[in-house]
Amino acid sequence: LADEIFSKRKKFLGSSLFHYYQNPLNIVEGKMQYLFDENGRRYLDAFAGIVTVSCGHCHPEVLNAIIEQSKLLQHATTIYLHHAIADFAESLASKMPGNLKVVYFVNSGSEANELAMLMARLYTGNLGMISLRNAYHGGSSSTIGLTALNTWKYPIPEGEIHHAVNPDPYHGVFGSDANSYAKDVQDHIDYGTSGKVAGFIAETIQGVGGTVELAPGYLKLVYDIVHKAGGVCIADEVQTGFGRTGSHYWGFETQGVIPDIVTMAKGIGNGLPLGAVVTTPEIASVLAQKIQFNTFGGNPVCSAGGLAVLRVIDKEKRQSHCADVGSHLLEGLRSLMQRHDIIGDVRGRGLMVGVEFVTDRKEKTPAKAETAVMFEKLRELGILIGKGGLHGNVFRIKPPMCFSKDDADFVVDALDYAISKL
Ligand code: PMP
Repeated sequence: LADEIFSKRKKFLGSSLFHYYQNPLNIVEGKMQYLFDENGRRYLDAFAGIVTVSCGHCHPEVLNAIIEQSKLLQHATTIYLHHAIADFAESLASKMPGNLKVVYFVNSGSEANELAMLMARLYTGNLGMISLRNAYHGGSSSTIGLTALNTWKYPIPEGEIHHAVNPDPYHGVFGSDANSYAKDVQDHIDYGTSGKVAGFIAETIQGVGGTVELAPGYLKLVYDIVHKAGGVCIADEVQTGFGRTGSHYWGFETQGVIPDIVTMAKGIGNGLPLGAVVTTPEIASVLAQKIQFNTFGGNPVCSAGGLAVLRVIDKEKRQSHCADVGSHLLEGLRSLMQRHDIIGDVRGRGLMVGVEFVTDRKEKTPAKAETAVMFEKLRELGILIGKGGLHGNVFRIKPPMCFSKDDADFVVDALDYAISKL
């Protein structure tokens, strides 16, 4: 069956689609932190459909909310009233700090970042956007310019987007020196935008780029710089939001800042196509005299599902669970690092963890081939993991938030074994 699907996919779907594993895996069912293939083989899912399945695959309460709403009404658009979108917006706004109270629903992370960029530009009257190197903010026509990964570049003008040095404590030229990285943002504002900055956008832990935690204190310094220059600050919480970092509900809280605009997607819908932008009434007012419309944004089914996701995360105490299981996982991985030189770095927070493999710890030479071998090995052992970083030499462990300590131990033991077999 997998072969048949693969040949159809090659024939009828764009060749830009990529797949994991030498023999592509055909997934037919999901149950909480497990996925099942066509032969009924169970896999531990350590990547959650790219950090998306927050509560768990087919989580009963989320599933029930989707089914019940689907039976009643699937779609009508916001030209009519519907309680689900209003209840969902109220619940989401209650999760936000400060004056972040106005919600827009869209269908994906790219759309959320497009809208955030539009708001920043309209609000400030400037065009210049600053994002960080190594960032992923989307694949749509304008967010692809914010995305600063070499594999995602196209030979088309990005239009007034500048990429600042990412404050990566492991690889970065300034180590953990937040001041020097922040100065680079100031330079981009002064020389890149001639002082006319619309907005600064950053993930609070870079996801696709390889789970890179920004140097401590960085966002505080940069938000100050951007605000002084008249720009707005956007936090991309597409991967880091909803308690995944364990210590906080939102990633930006780990840096002690409150953004002007927050974008979210992925985990907000547990797999439903859903995204959101939350901002202040003042910034939102720039769209007041315009029509900002999204046919599917906040449709009844996604809203009911999203509302259930927020409820489940609270009810099942998923944030503190991520903190507990995440620190257990990090501890296990760090003890592996003491025994295996191939592990160059273990980093992250909560259930957003990265393991970087190098052939030489001092030079940090990417162990690209070895990572690929271990990646296949883990599949063989029944674990599906994520891969990322500039050279594909970082394992990304970002499972559904119901992942247990036993699951974490299984991953650590399997990785230990995979390394020993290299
Ligand atoms: N922002 C971040 C941080 C992401 O990781 C992604 C997706 N990988 C996006 C935005 C874009 O989201 P989508 O694929 O839903 O458009």
